[in-house]
Amino acid sequence: MDLERLILDRIRDIPEYPKPGVMFKDITPLLADHVAFAGVVDAVVNHYGRGTVDKIVGIEARGFILAAPVAYHFGAGFVPVRKKGKLPSRTLEETYDLEYGSETIQMHADALGPGERVLIVDDVLATGGTAGATAELVRRGGGEVVGLSVLMELSFLHGREKLGNTDVHALVTV
Ligand code: AMP
Repeated sequence: MDLERLILDRIRDIPEYPKPGVMFKDITPLLADHVAFAGVVDAVVNHYGRGTVDKIVGIEARGFILAAPVAYHFGAGFVPVRKKGKLPSRTLEETYDLEYGSETIQMHADALGPGERVLIVDDVLATGGTAGATAELVRRGGGEVVGLSVLMELSFLHGREKLGNTDVHALVTV
């Protein structure tokens, strides 16, 4: 099976979760398959190439699972972006709109060195609010956003449009 078909096969659709109207993309079957998991990590590293980034920024929580092995194989550091109130030191924060209400995410203010090249990694790109706010945190933290890499892009939600000219790399698009 090629990687795209393997990914599609190992991501499970959960209807009406966590709330009505949402089709949740459950990546746990993919993570439990070592061939699929390793294939995903290798595909991200090969797309950008070792040595092209200094830091991998992972978005809480499923983004962490993908971002940490990607960082290891890139030879890059890992930086977490977390929901408000979880990081212990001084933070930068961004608030963005959700369908109902808003969300605030944070990154340690000293996580990035000046001009460091950053790849942002998450599992799913939906409306783009989370990734857009993360890109803003990276820029405010002194980094340069090389790109956003996701396992799956939900193209009908037009998340790319919130990301300006950020390079978006999706292993599968639905
Ligand atoms: P958004 O900000 O709308 O692009 O949403 C992206 C974030 O929410 C990512 O961190 C995803 O993990 C999560 N997410 C949004 N929609 C889904 C979905 N349908 N299935 C799984 N995760 C989702």
